[in-house]
Amino acid sequence: MDLYSGHINKLIDELAALPGIGTKSAQRLAFHMIHMPKEKVERLAKTMVEAKENVKYCKECYTLTDQEICPVCSSSKRDHTTIMVVENTRDLAAYEKTGKYAGVYHVLHGAISPMLGIGPNDIRLKELMERLQGEISEVIVATNSSLEGETTAMYIGKLIKPTGIKVTRIASGVPVGGDLEYIDEVTLLRALEGRTEL
Ligand code: ZN
Repeated sequence: MDLYSGHINKLIDELAALPGIGTKSAQRLAFHMIHMPKEKVERLAKTMVEAKENVKYCKECYTLTDQEICPVCSSSKRDHTTIMVVENTRDLAAYEKTGKYAGVYHVLHGAISPMLGIGPNDIRLKELMERLQGEISEVIVATNSSLEGETTAMYIGKLIKPTGIKVTRIASGVPVGGDLEYIDEVTLLRALEGRTEL
């Protein structure tokens, strides 16, 4: 017997398909939405569609932004010869929050994972190599300390070394398997300061 209406079931299914949301949370959210004023639901739906339509990749570092070139890449106060390589925009945000990193970034949008069938061509590595044609003094690899992050770091090290550009890896003070975005600022800065050459 179907306990809920078809529309509620559909909403629950859509919500439960989102990462980190189980069936119970999906049910709670669905019922919450049904009880919300119609204007609020419309605003939420509109915000989701607008974000999807307007957010794009920065043409230089590939972070998610509303502009062609993100605020970091377009800032003349940043050191454009130092590139920190991160897995995603949330990791970039974590380092930006420390306010202590003056270089620019490169966002890979993923990490190499043979297990998941994600290879070097599935992340923004080619774009990183293209950026190295410019005047670059150091590439700091700040991928996560998960197996995928380490694999990606080693791969990048091998790619960049022959170019003669200095390539470093952040210190492994970062807990193994820890996502960068969950690590506190002090640990992030310590990892950055303790970086070693790959
Ligand atoms: Zn950018």
